[in-house]
This record gives sequence, C-alpha cells and structure tokens, in this order.
Amino acid sequence: IVRVVDLTKSFGGLDVLKGVNLEVERGEVVCILGRSGSGKSTLLRCVNHLERPDSGAVVVDGFVMGYRAKGGKLHELRTGDAAKQRQTVGMVFQSFNLFPHMTVMENLIEAPRKVQGRGRDELVGEARALLKDVGLLEKENAYPGTLSGGQQQRVAIARALMMQPKVMLFDEPTSALDPELVGEVLEAMKRLAATGMTMMVVTHEVGFARNVADRVIFMADGVVVEDGPPSQVIDNPQAPETKTFLSTLL
Ligand code: ATP
Ligand code: MG
Repeated sequence: IVRVVDLTKSFGGLDVLKGVNLEVERGEVVCILGRSGSGKSTLLRCVNHLERPDSGAVVVDGFVMGYRAKGGKLHELRTGDAAKQRQTVGMVFQSFNLFPHMTVMENLIEAPRKVQGRGRDELVGEARALLKDVGLLEKENAYPGTLSGGQQQRVAIARALMMQPKVMLFDEPTSALDPELVGEVLEAMKRLAATGMTMMVVTHEVGFARNVADRVIFMADGVVVEDGPPSQVIDNPQAPETKTFLSTLL
C-alpha cells in the first residue's frame, strides 16, 4: 500500500535521503531503525508529504503523494489539496502536540469536523470508541495538560485514527516518555497492529520491533541497508552498520 521509489532529499548541501526504496504491504507493520541523523524522520515526513522529495516518489494506495495524475502527467497539488491528501496518512510524533486549550474530545473531533465536514454527533460516537480502545474513555473531558505523557500519546494515536487513515506513521512515539509510561503506548500500538492497520514505526524499542513488526528496515547514511523479518535483521544482521547499531543498544 506504500511504495517509496528512488527517494532523495537534501537540505542545503546535506544529502539526507540518497535513493530510498521500500514497500509496505497492506496490514503490515514495518519498524525502521537507524542511527540519529540517518534520515528516518525525513523519510516519514516525505511519506506523508510534509517534506517534498527532490526526486523519486511516494505512492500511497495508488496515489502519488503531492501530485495528481492527469493526462498521463503528474501535476503538483496545491497546498490545500496536498493537505487533504495527507489525511490518508496518520502521523504520531515524539512530542504529543495535542491542542492544549481543547479537551480530549475536542482534540479528536476537530480535524474530521473541519476538514471532512462530518457531523458532531457521529464523530463523538467514533471518538468514544477509539478512546475506549486506548483505555482513556474516562478522560474525554480532560485537558491535555492534566494527562501523563503516556496518556497524551494514546490520545494522539486516537486523534490520528479519527481521520480513518490508510497508513499510520509513528516517529519515535515513546522516546519522550518516562520509562514507566513506554509500555502503555507500545501496548496501544500493538493492539492497533492487531486490527490490521498498516504501520510504519521509527523506534529504538527493539523489543517492540521483534515482537510486533512483520518487517524491520535498517537505514544508514540515507539508504536502506537491510530489510527483512525481525528474526533476520535484529537477530542475524548482515550489514556492518546494523551490527554496530544493535550492539550499542544492548
Ligand atoms: P534522529 O534519530 O535523531 O531522529 P533521524 O534519522 O530521524 O535522526 P532526520 O531527522 O531525518 O534523522 O535528519 C537527517 C539529517 O537531516 C540530520 O543531519 C538533520 O540535521 C538534517 N535535517 C533534517 N531536517 C532538516 C531541515 N528541515 N533543514 C535542515 N536540515 C535538516
Ligand atoms: Mg528522527
């Protein structure tokens, strides 16, 4: 459902992505590992077109992100249309970035109401179901500032799901959390994976990658150097970069 083809991206003189190729099947959970600066966040930001690739393309569910096919040619989407297209890809960041002045419920229904023009009553019902899934039904009227980091991150997951995305991207969703709160967020992600959601997860949680991922991708220096099942990439890495990286985590 996601195809990344020969993707390149540089900032100034710095080549961050140097030709990334990967595919994610529908329902697959792919964890992306790699050292700091290897381009993991940039890759995710290109997948939902928060970042415009210099060359190559990202195709999600048959649509080239940021472009519209017309008369056999690709035309770049205008900002508004690109934002609408981006809704098909949910994203959860390291920092929770909920709207602080809105309750949990308002956070969840804001985007689908404004962007998709859907009715409040219907959305409230859906929001409650999602809050229940992440174990936070009793917090619907709370403000984000009164929640723990783990609770906020679970709200962020529910909020992304409100847009009914085809793919969910996670960029180090637990790395800003106190250690005792990491487990509850990983657990919510594991339950989401079990529903068949397609997920791309940048994480340093090797345990999660081993237990939940269908496939693990290791990035180094702007390219994919390893791509395979966790048993292969984590337990029997081939690339020297992967071996070095994994040994620093143990
Ligand atoms: P980390 O594990 O630290 O999050 P990462 O693998 O996610 O690292 P990226 O955030 O993709 O790495 O960054 C890759 C490189 O690109 C870094 O050197 C970073 O400084 C640079 N970079 C990323 N975004 C920008 C930007 N908007 N402008 C300039 N440089 C950038
Ligand atoms: Mg990053």
